[in-house]
Order: sequence, then structure tokens, then C-alpha cells
Amino acid sequence: MKKKIAVFSGDGIGQEIVPEAIKVLDAIGSRFGHAFACEYAQVGGAAIDSAGIPLPSDSLALAKESDAVLLGAVGGPKWEGLDYERRPERALLGLREQLGLFANLRPAKIYSALIQASTLKPEVIDGIDVLVVRELTGGIYFGKPKGIETTPTGHRGVNTEVYTTEEITRIAHVAFKSAQKRRRLVTSIDKANVLESSELWRRVVIEVHKSYPDVELRHMYVDNCAMQLVRNPKQFDVIVTTNLFGDILSDEAAMLTGSIGMLPSASIGSTVGMFEPIHGSAPDIAGKNMANPIGTIASLAMMLNYSFDLSKEAELIEQAIQITLDQGFRTKDIEGEGTTLLGTKEMGETILQNLGRL
Ligand code: NAD
Repeated sequence: MKKKIAVFSGDGIGQEIVPEAIKVLDAIGSRFGHAFACEYAQVGGAAIDSAGIPLPSDSLALAKESDAVLLGAVGGPKWEGLDYERRPERALLGLREQLGLFANLRPAKIYSALIQASTLKPEVIDGIDVLVVRELTGGIYFGKPKGIETTPTGHRGVNTEVYTTEEITRIAHVAFKSAQKRRRLVTSIDKANVLESSELWRRVVIEVHKSYPDVELRHMYVDNCAMQLVRNPKQFDVIVTTNLFGDILSDEAAMLTGSIGMLPSASIGSTVGMFEPIHGSAPDIAGKNMANPIGTIASLAMMLNYSFDLSKEAELIEQAIQITLDQGFRTKDIEGEGTTLLGTKEMGETILQNLGRL
């Protein structure tokens, strides 16, 4: 197989974790005879420094002409004073919009070796395996009117939650199709008791469900879901929800597993998918060889699975991660009693060695 991958390491720890994932990609390529051609470009703060904007046109063009995008993280204190349109994070919104990435998939799965790293009781989290499917290009982050207006007495801030039938239909299909490959249960999260946009959301999800009789559909209000995720997370298989609710619930689901550094994500939609760890650029540990590269390596596995249909290769990477953790190797963020502390590079190297033995 021949594939072209746009690699955006971005800022902060992005520069340290992405190279570890690329080593794994190269190892998979040589072992299975795939030609993965990686091309690098800048986005985020690095692009602001070199080109004055967070998403230069050549970076966007590279993303569009590639088969998939691997991204580290963007942002950092250096660029926090800039206005919203010029901030590093705009690169993410631009890529999502331009690549038509309307669905964000975030699996939250517990590794048995890391059960102690969670703040929840082992019996609550042992065996959890949740996939949050978040709508990514609609809802309150993009709805109009928006802005801050001046009023006779001060100011008025406005954002608008908007969803169309088309937007809800396509994300519902992603959720039901994902559930068919898993435990066949979709829980749709809304606030249909208060919001009209949620009322439409529920109506459309019920309609789309008619094409998936093999999948069970449940509905839950978002406030209840926030509670249920910490009370009994094992009740969930696939959660499908709006942009805003998904932003919050996917972080909550992530924390069930103990560390933000472990978790991958996929953004899919039209032809080019984008894969990145769920965490940010972690300026507090950047440049110290302390960052956990597992979320990025697992994102690479998602790329192989979702974009290239290489499920066997993806499975091998996941096994290599699992074995490395079972052997007791840890980066600082997941360190525990009786474990062996490794730096970013050493963790990448150990996963690579375990991959070679499989
Ligand atoms: P963050 O995810 O960067 O860090 C939160 C905490 O988790 C920090 O203590 C950090 O050290 C730790 N952490 C994160 N990833 C880790 C890893 N791989 N290994 C070990 N520890 C890890 O969130 P933040 O501090 O709120 O944001 C920092 C910057 O990142 C901001 O500029 C923010 O806008 C940006 N950000 C970018 C993305 C993205 O690129 N997708 C996502 C979130 C935040």
C-alpha cells in the first residue's frame, strides 16, 4: 500500500511525541511492505512564528492532497495574547472545516495495568470501553448570530446553537456504523427537555436509527450523562452528541482512564481523516523528554484502522502498547509504585522493540 501522510508536529510536546509515532509508522511500513510517505509542515504557534498565521496555505494544501493527517498539538503561552482569529488553535478549526471533518471519535478504554491511575474505584472502571462520537463542525461553536454587542448598560455576549437535519443525520450514521463494529449500543445525548435544537437532534437520530435495527438506541439528557459517566461508565458503548456537549463529555470520559496522555482521537468526514492525541501542547513539560507519547502512537493506530483499513497493523501497535504497560514501563504522568520510569524517547523505543517481537 502507498499512502501520503501530512505530519504537523505543532507546538510544545508535539515536537517530541510525533517523532516517536513516526518511528512506529516506519517499522510497520517496512514490516508489511507499505510505502508511507510523510511530508512535514507547520501549523499553530510554529506557523505563526514562521508565516504569521496559524494555518498557512501550503500546510492546508498539503493536508488536502494527503491521504491522512497526523497532528501533535498546538498552542502555548507565547501566543496567548493574540486575538482569537490569529491564535494557534484556529489552525485546528480551519483544518476541521476545510477537510470537512464533521465527526470526532474518541475511544476511552482502560488498560488493565493502569487501573490504579484512575481517580475512580477499580470496580467502577475495570473493563470500560466507551467511544464518544462528537459532532465537530456545527452547533454553538459555529452558529450565528455570535459576538459581543454594546448595550446601553454594558455588553451582551451571544452564541447560537444551530443544527440542521443533514448535520444530525450524517453524525448519527457514523455513530450507528461504529456501534455495529462494537457492542451495538448507541446512547444519544441531548437536552431535549429544554432546547429546541436538541428536540430536532433526538427526532432525527430516531429516524436514522430505523436503518440500523441491529443496534440498540437509548437517549439521555446531558446532565444525567455527566453523572452516569462517573457512576456507572460501563453502561455505555457508543455515545453520540453535539459539539459542545461532546467537548465536555469526551474530556470527562478521558479522565476515567487516568491520564490524558494515553488517549487518541480521529476526526473523519470526507476523504482525509485527521488523527491526534486528545491532549494539548503541555507547555509545563515541553522540551523535558517527559511527555507520554502513547496517545499519539495510538492515534497512528487509529489512522491505520480508519483511513487505510489496516486493522491487523493497528492491532499490533495496540498490543505493543499493552505489553509495554504490562511490563511496568511508565512515563511520569502514569507513574506508580513498582513501575519503571521512562522518558518520551525511551517509551517510544520500548514500544518499538515490543512491536518488533510480536
Ligand atoms: P494540556 O493537555 O496541554 O495539558 C494539561 C495537563 O496534562 C498538563 O499538566 C500537561 O503536562 C499534562 N499532559 C498533557 N499531555 C500530556 C502527555 N502527553 N504526557 C504527559 N502529560 C501530559 O492542556 P492545557 O495545559 O490546558 O493547554 C496547553 C496548550 O495546549 C494551550 O495553548 C491549549 O490551547 C492547547 N491545546 C491544544 C489542543 C490541541 O492541539 N488539540 C488541545 C487542548 C489544548
